[in-house]
Amino acid sequence: MTDQTPGPRPLFIAGAVRDATSGETFETRNPFTGAVIATVQAAAAADVDAAVAAATEGQRAWAAMSGTARGRVLSRAADLIRARRDEIARLESLDGGKPIQETPEADVDSGADCLAYFAALAPTIGGEHQTLGEGGDAPWFYTRREPLGVVGGIGAWNYPFQIACWKTAPALAAGNAMVFKPAEQTPLSAAILAEVLTEAGVPSGVFNVVQGDARVGRMLTTHPGIAKISFTGEIDTGKAVMADSASTLKTLTLELGGKSPLLVFEDADLDDAVSAAMLANFYTQGQICTNGTRVFVRDTVIDAFLARLLPRAEAMTLGDPLDPATQMGPLITPEHQRSVLARIARARADGATLLTGGRAPDHPALAGKPFVLPTVFRADDDGLPLCRQEIFGPVMTVLSFADEDEAIARANALPVGLAGGVMTRDMTRAHRVAARLEAGVVWINTYNITPVEMPFGGIKQSGMGRENGRAALEHVTRIKSVYVEPGHVEAPY
Ligand code: NAP
Repeated sequence: MTDQTPGPRPLFIAGAVRDATSGETFETRNPFTGAVIATVQAAAAADVDAAVAAATEGQRAWAAMSGTARGRVLSRAADLIRARRDEIARLESLDGGKPIQETPEADVDSGADCLAYFAALAPTIGGEHQTLGEGGDAPWFYTRREPLGVVGGIGAWNYPFQIACWKTAPALAAGNAMVFKPAEQTPLSAAILAEVLTEAGVPSGVFNVVQGDARVGRMLTTHPGIAKISFTGEIDTGKAVMADSASTLKTLTLELGGKSPLLVFEDADLDDAVSAAMLANFYTQGQICTNGTRVFVRDTVIDAFLARLLPRAEAMTLGDPLDPATQMGPLITPEHQRSVLARIARARADGATLLTGGRAPDHPALAGKPFVLPTVFRADDDGLPLCRQEIFGPVMTVLSFADEDEAIARANALPVGLAGGVMTRDMTRAHRVAARLEAGVVWINTYNITPVEMPFGGIKQSGMGRENGRAALEHVTRIKSVYVEPGHVEAPY
């Protein structure tokens, strides 16, 4: 990191680093070594008030700029991120335990691409116009697509830099300001985003970082000066965020958890299907919201599918996230490792068949570190907690099905609907299944690819609103309708 500030890491408010007034600090650790990477200052309510006040003021100046001018600044920020690609990727691997194989592209490029994408869209944000009748004296209306004001962003720990960029880029492109709270486990990269946005020319107060735990999150969700909350995290936290936001009737984008299905039909290329299933379960140690953790495989090919899958899962390289050969790093914390292992133990006790993994690796170099081997279960009962609850670790469950209707019904049976996938060479079936899956995102013949051009988000209890794509702009703006009467007012009295 280039942040040279001695002592605990400060907040970022009104265009500059600022010490928190709480006197409280917390530590962030390297998940691989367990060592403390940094101590971070936690915000007090007065600091959040200061951030919101700075954002309110900064937003006015920012929104007064043309979309083209805002886009120019955001585009510069994208370039600055690319210039610091290695540094940011390394920090994300250190703070989050993600393999350095992943972070340059999945975290840094994705963040930069998002800023560049919304930089290009910023000049296009506008309303519509319609006349209400014929002739020059007909009334007409137009709409203005206006920013909401101050957006509160609350991030999860699995993609800290990417989440910060995905929330900030559309919000700022549309003329909003942002007060962002990263997750406590991964607080560091938000400071780099603050640095690059400032260097790129974002005015003071338009992007602020407040650090801390759920208490600081709640300071945002209950703050009367914040118009919208954009939240990424667990479903239950999302419900609490929604309830708190109701007190001031904020609008919401909620990016929550899932238990997504991946359907493998008998005509699928089985090697591709295995690749998709592995991407859907083992990337980022399985700590991805969209993961296809329920892999439904047609009964006629399930044995062949497993015969290809298991050796590939067992061949994965676990190790130091900073080693370029590492394909899977540690889970985020020892507590999370214990939670994942407890769910695995419960699944075994419930009668699911463990086919591989299911424990920490016994390699001496990884002893005592929060790793979990790539794990594959076979199960017959969709009602098991294994098949219903998000585990957020490298745990895949393979289930067999006999026909398409049955697979769809089982895929759609849960109250969540973030994502889904279908593997088949039959394109008619692929699109039919995609249409029938109750999910916000469906992949045909691949999994977990999230280009910034494509709207991203869930349905049912997996959330609301969208990030990325043009659709994201609808969720960071509001419409004002302006009716224009060129003639006289017709009053009945
Ligand atoms: P989490 O425990 O719900 O925390 C998410 C964020 O909310 C953190 O910054 C957390 O602060 C904060 N927070 C906790 N309680 C709060 C409250 N009552 N009010 C306001 N903020 C509060 O989630 P996580 O463990 O960090 O992330 C894993 C979850 O995120 C998984 O369920 C995963 O599926 C989901 N996720 C979804 C997406 C998506 O796009 N749909 C993407 C990534 C992750 P602390 O840091 O102090 O806990």
